[in-house]
Amino acid sequence: MVNNNSFEKKSKVWNKPFLLKPAGKDYLWGGTRLRDDFAKEIEMTPLAETWECSTHPDGLSVVGSGKYQGRTLAELLKRHPEYLGHAEGNGELPFLIKFIDAEKDLSVQVHPDDEYAARNENGQPGKTEFWYVLDADENAELIYGFRTEISQETLKKSIREGTIEKYLQRIPIHRDDLFYIQAGTVHAIGAGALIAEIQENSNLTYRLYDYDRVDRNGKKREIHLEKALDVANLKASGEPVQPLRVLRYRKGCASEILCRCKYFEIHRMLINTERYRQMANYQTDGISFRVLLCVAGCGCIFFGEEEACNYFKGDCIFVPANSVPMKIHGKAQFLEVRG
Ligand code: ZN
Repeated sequence: MVNNNSFEKKSKVWNKPFLLKPAGKDYLWGGTRLRDDFAKEIEMTPLAETWECSTHPDGLSVVGSGKYQGRTLAELLKRHPEYLGHAEGNGELPFLIKFIDAEKDLSVQVHPDDEYAARNENGQPGKTEFWYVLDADENAELIYGFRTEISQETLKKSIREGTIEKYLQRIPIHRDDLFYIQAGTVHAIGAGALIAEIQENSNLTYRLYDYDRVDRNGKKREIHLEKALDVANLKASGEPVQPLRVLRYRKGCASEILCRCKYFEIHRMLINTERYRQMANYQTDGISFRVLLCVAGCGCIFFGEEEACNYFKGDCIFVPANSVPMKIHGKAQFLEVRG
């Protein structure tokens, strides 16, 4: 029986942070920026998505440094569920972190919530997602819900006739914008957006409309009309509001909270230690693990007895619960995701 004692015993062991290597996806709407700007070494064209921190069987991340290098993160967490701290459970990550390069429009889609997924999709969780816009072309947009309430009949007819776009709400997007896409919200990332996505650990997407595109084999992608109609919120969606954000400063580091929900908590950290002799101290609390996704700049993380790890824009670092104290040096920006 697992009891508090065993957790305490385990939590006295100091764990070390390590780099992750992503799995790639070559979906037809992708571009090449993840290779060109983020130095991803994945030979796929297009390279639409990299699954940076994932234990999902559809795209497993691999440990890229330290003594477990070369193993999948899923395998490692099964063996060391204590790395997840209070989220220990069965060694499953509660979320999935991706980079997304949308050179073309993504399909108009919707994801189920946990309850619908549990009933209809063999126990996978639903999919609520959070997006941080890393870059956006001048006219880049996202589709977010409906402009006015729509009936099931009208929606079905508009999908059949290819007129659904006139009912959808389009929002201009800019670098540094945040979007929280609750399960059930019909949405699509538009062409020209580079996004970091943090989502529930799920790959359930119901496609409503795909602009009549064909893939490289000349086939249209599947539309999942029945399930999409089951879960789509057909009410008018308000315009998403960008929250006021408050920066907190400490030595070598400023941080702000971007999102807190029952699945994850996300902060943005700005590291700048170039002008200081001292580096930014960083440590987990023994309760929750952290994932550091470097979205700009570069530097070095020092930990343990004289161990160090260089990081660059695009790198993803897993910091186990009860990690050794770390010192972060450099000029960089991170998204910090807490489990
Ligand atoms: Zn989505």
